[in-house]
Formats: sequence, C-alpha cells, structure tokens
Amino acid sequence: MARNRKRLTPKEIFFDGKMNIIWQDNTHSIYDYWELRTSCPCADCVDEITGEKTLDDSTIDKDIHPVQSAYIGNYALEILWSDNHDTGIYTFENLRDRYPHEEKPVS
Ligand SMILES: [Zn+2]
Repeated sequence: MARNRKRLTPKEIFFDGKMNIIWQDNTHSIYDYWELRTSCPCADCVDEITGEKTLDDSTIDKDIHPVQSAYIGNYALEILWSDNHDTGIYTFENLRDRYPHEEKPVS
C-alpha cells in the first residue's frame, strides 16, 4: 500500500464523546462533534458555486452529536447528526487535511 493511501484509510472509527479515527499509518485523529458538524460540506451548508459557507454556526446546538454513520465506498463517511442533518459527506482526505482535529501517534 502506498504511503498516501494508508494516510487516508481508516483502520478504525469510534465515537466516545468525540469522533476518533485510527488511520492505517497509525495516527489517531480526534474530532470535536460541534466543529465537525459546523464543517459540513454539503450544499445546504456551503454555497456550491462560491464555496462560501452559508451555515450559521450559532444555529448548531453545542450538544450536537452523531446518531449514525456509514462508510461511502472507501473514500468517505456519511454522518446523521442529532439535528437530523445527514447530507454531509466527509471525505477521508478532508478529515485528514482540512477539518479541525487533534492528531497524535497511536500509543
Ligand atoms: Zn450540511
């Protein structure tokens, strides 16, 4: 497996108050639910033409959390949020490189 492929392929995803992804390159990424929800890339949250964010962060509850999640092929994660929003597709590339998160080596 090429290095970049491992970087962008989750070994394990779990939810424990935050979203955790263990990548195949043995990096552990931790995502805050609220930050992840307000980074939603879907057409309701981001203007498709200008790429400008149209979601007003203040409309998202601080206790937002995922209700369900599913892999889309091997490139993305779809999340159903507690506000019933489920149109966001979180690509592994964006999760690794774009959305806010903490990163540490797997111990
Ligand atoms: Zn959205």
